[in-house]
Amino acid sequence: MNEWYQKIEAEILKELHTKKEGLSSEKASALLKEKGENILEEGKKKSTVEVFAEQFKDLLVVILVAAAVISMLSGNVESTIVIMAVIILNAVLGTVQHEKAQKSLASLKSLSSPNARVMRDGKKTEVASREVVPGDILILEAGDMVVADGRILNNYSLQVNESSLTGESTNVDKEDGTLESSVPLADRTNMVYSGSLVTYGRAVVVVTDTGMKTEIGKIASLMNATKEKKTPLQVNLDQFSSRLATVIMAICGVVFLLSLYRKMPLLDSMMFAVALAVAAIPEALSSIVTIVQAMGTQRMAKENAIIKELKAVESLGCVSVICSDKTGTLTLNKMTVQEIYLDNQIFKPEELELTNQLHRYLLYDAVLTNDSTIADGKGIGDPTEYALLEMAGKVSVSHSTIRDLMHRLEEIPFDSDRKLMSTKYKLHGVPTILTKGAVDVLLDRTVSIRTSQGIRELTEADKEDILKQNMMFSENGLRVLAFGYKEVEESHVLSLHSENNFIFLGLVSMVDPPREESKAAVADAKTAGIRPVMITGDHKITATAIAKQIGIFEDGDLAVTGAELDAMTDQELDGKIVNISVYARVSPENKIRIVDAWQRRGNIVSMTGDGVNDAPALKKADIGVAMGITGTEVSKDAASMILSDDNFATIIKAVANGRNVYRNIKNAIQFLLSGNMAGIFSVLYTSIMALPIPFAPVHLLFINLLTDSLPAISIGMEPAEYGLLSQKPRDPKEGILTKEFMTKVMIQGALIAVCTMTAFHLGLRQSGVAAASTMAFATLTLARLFHGFNCRSSQSIFRLGFKGNWYSLGAFVLGFSLLSLVMFVPVMEKLFSVTPLTGSQIGIVYGLAIIPTAIIQLTKVAREIGK
Ligand code: ATP
Repeated sequence: MNEWYQKIEAEILKELHTKKEGLSSEKASALLKEKGENILEEGKKKSTVEVFAEQFKDLLVVILVAAAVISMLSGNVESTIVIMAVIILNAVLGTVQHEKAQKSLASLKSLSSPNARVMRDGKKTEVASREVVPGDILILEAGDMVVADGRILNNYSLQVNESSLTGESTNVDKEDGTLESSVPLADRTNMVYSGSLVTYGRAVVVVTDTGMKTEIGKIASLMNATKEKKTPLQVNLDQFSSRLATVIMAICGVVFLLSLYRKMPLLDSMMFAVALAVAAIPEALSSIVTIVQAMGTQRMAKENAIIKELKAVESLGCVSVICSDKTGTLTLNKMTVQEIYLDNQIFKPEELELTNQLHRYLLYDAVLTNDSTIADGKGIGDPTEYALLEMAGKVSVSHSTIRDLMHRLEEIPFDSDRKLMSTKYKLHGVPTILTKGAVDVLLDRTVSIRTSQGIRELTEADKEDILKQNMMFSENGLRVLAFGYKEVEESHVLSLHSENNFIFLGLVSMVDPPREESKAAVADAKTAGIRPVMITGDHKITATAIAKQIGIFEDGDLAVTGAELDAMTDQELDGKIVNISVYARVSPENKIRIVDAWQRRGNIVSMTGDGVNDAPALKKADIGVAMGITGTEVSKDAASMILSDDNFATIIKAVANGRNVYRNIKNAIQFLLSGNMAGIFSVLYTSIMALPIPFAPVHLLFINLLTDSLPAISIGMEPAEYGLLSQKPRDPKEGILTKEFMTKVMIQGALIAVCTMTAFHLGLRQSGVAAASTMAFATLTLARLFHGFNCRSSQSIFRLGFKGNWYSLGAFVLGFSLLSLVMFVPVMEKLFSVTPLTGSQIGIVYGLAIIPTAIIQLTKVAREIGK
């Protein structure tokens, strides 16, 4: 059987029951049901049962099972039951948390999945890529991601990058027509394959295969094996946890031997060691990171920043340089033509006259070298081009009438490297190339000028006049386009080599106002110690004028063009980079160099981009940011964050959120570790002092279960506090577990341990081991619950209040209720190895439990007053 690439066009369309005008919506939805969604099934996703089973692979669980066995051997059946129940409950909690985190990541993924342009009911429409079906007519443009396999019907200089499929990183030229012989995939030049990126040109394609039937689908099973990737912070914490676990096991061993030496019965000694292990192993560290990060990314998505990989959340907090595009990110990307320069005169759009030949030529050029349209009063396509249609509309030139009359023969689309766009038409029977583009670029390719007197040679004086006018427009922050044309032979084929020897027509200036939020966001960035830098394809003077308006460019700063940058050595650039706040007329390659130079200085760089050619710079940056609205699929694919509103201010919000997530993770870890330390110190103390065992394993289990879950998560939900953006960016090399942090953890743990042991001593003295143990258990639990409030923020609770985080109060109330249940409901006594306490003993417990928090809060208040 012949393959798709070997068949003729008509045969393919017939076989797929489609036509060049595309499918009807009904047929498409029927096909969607029949063929299934156009998605690659992710590697076998772990089932809930598997996730649940995985929870038991933990070292802690092994120790707990040991504890259950020992309890059973020592005749304490109730304890065994409780331990087993706790193990299961722990696994259930772990499973729920895992599934929740996965769900929120999946929803982020669907937010960033690509769209495709297809013909439906004879009209060009945009649909989600998962809805594309075999038989759909797909329209591909530079910057698109190919979402299904297809055969090319019409080809306009299409180039694609198929590296995801073939491993070959150079772009391949495509063509239409049939291939006779059997050729390998990489040589099937009339086909496009799902997962490749369109880097240049356009094409109309009929979809032949979707989903798992595509070539990438066939090899997807190979890639499905990819494991869930852990973030650097998680890896770091995992390493820390396992190192700590080893140390703890060693201490447990020593404690065990010490107990034996003290002639403690074997089972009791073992129980003692196990209790210590249970209390000390911080098993929740890595999972708390995932949960807090997942919650953070959800919050960010609500605020228009879609995070594609969790790793980005961590780097966001360290960002110290933000390189941002101008057009659309810092400005509104709403262009309006202001003034037109023709034959040394300035006109407003409404002053143009159709009867004037020069004016008419400019209007033709503006409408025909243009791919935008107006539908229902709204502009579709490039705002720069849409502004030109509006300009034409002001002199009653209907772009659709002109376009209906003239047939476009050839075109070379605009790209931000060339900064030109050219088309070929037959104007009044004469083949003509129309072009528009950046003034400096076009002027270099111009030899004549058209004035009201006719065409004449372009003199140096003309050039000076044009450049002077360009300067005047630019100084007012206006974007300027130059227009030109030339007549050619019938046989002339439009190519990059044709873009010269033009006849100059005129200049059009347009305004693109800064976004309202940009100025404040730039100011916020600066107070946050982040350097905003503008990188734009626009003219240096225009860019500098806008940069000044929004505060990016300050006195003493430098503005550099791409050409000037090219002329600099790396050393020269390194010497100047801190002063350069505007890069103008840059090419996408320049962007990579700028990122590189900042990174050499140890900065964490965020870079925005929207075009196909921006992908390498987005990948090179620590945080590549793509534009959700105007960005190409290629740029979205390369980025680690997508702005669904294309707004610079959203990046700053995301950085603030990133910092907050990191702070919350750090606080949750502080809470978990200091609580564990309190347990370790207490058990170690009793062991060294040869006192009875303070806690039964179920006590420590209960505490772990209670505090590792809700209170820790509620700390992770703390909203960003005022002042988070007034701190300098975090040093990326500095981990969480610094000396200062660990000292704090130790001191707080010791404080809680002292109170716990005081309760233990008092209980021992008053009523013996059972009451002492109950008092120690209750004090430790309650003190840890109170400690949750301390870990929410560096601010005192009096400043912080509960308004921003009711969850923390909820977690406390729930924890306190459960503790009361265990202590005061008689049936629980046996299960949880507690005995009833007297009123004064309960008072002592409450009093001692609040002491560490009172001390910590008082020091915070003292610091706040001192400030
Ligand atoms: P940014 O990188 O900030 O988004 P930009 O959008 O201004 O900048 P480009 O789109 O690369 O950058 O435009 C660079 C220059 O190319 C513009 O200053 C303009 O002169 C010219 N230009 C822009 N759009 C078109 C177009 N559609 N056709 C022809 N020339 C264009």
